[in-house]
Amino acid sequence: MPYEPVTLGLKFAVRVHHLTGRDVLVVSCPACHKAYWVAPHVIYARFHEHLPLETVAKDFVCKRCGNKRGMSWYIERASGPEFPRSA
Ligand SMILES: [Zn+2]
Repeated sequence: MPYEPVTLGLKFAVRVHHLTGRDVLVVSCPACHKAYWVAPHVIYARFHEHLPLETVAKDFVCKRCGNKRGMSWYIERASGPEFPRSA
């Protein structure tokens, strides 16, 4: 099942509750370039659903190098015949 990057709106306007079960939050560390694929249920468990993801990203800590600053993120969404793109 392929994943495709999606844009759910302006970056500061995208909030936790915009993540669906077929999304994954891809977080990258600018210091060591490690990437993390974070499942939505992990985000929902730790942050209020109305928080902007830009605010959530301020709490990200790189597990490899300990960097906390400038963690970048984008959303990928699973596509495929079992997931109509319009849903
Ligand atoms: Zn790092």
